[in-house]
Amino acid sequence: MKKKMCQSCGMPLETAEDYGTEKNGAASADYCQHCYQEGEWVEPDMTLAEVIKKGHEAIDAMQVNRFKRALMKKGCSMMMPKLKRWANV
Ligand SMILES: [Zn+2]
Repeated sequence: MKKKMCQSCGMPLETAEDYGTEKNGAASADYCQHCYQEGEWVEPDMTLAEVIKKGHEAIDAMQVNRFKRALMKKGCSMMMPKLKRWANV
C-alpha cells in the first residue's frame, strides 16, 4: 500500500493533526494542514516551481551528506509534479 502524503506539498500524512480541513470541519482526504484549511488553499497563488523550491530548502536543512541531498532533491523534483494539485497544470 502506498504511504499517504499531502497531494500539494508531499508532506507525509501520518497523524490526524497532519490533515487539513474541509469547509464543514471534516479532515481533508488529500492535503495537509499547511496547505489546506477549511476548504481553501492556505497559499492559493503558490506554483509548482515554488513548492519544489520549498522542498529543496527543507532538504538543505537536513543533516545528510551532499550525495544523499542531491538524490533527495532529484526525487522531490520528480515526485511533486505528480501530486494531485499539480497534475493538471
Ligand atoms: Zn501540504
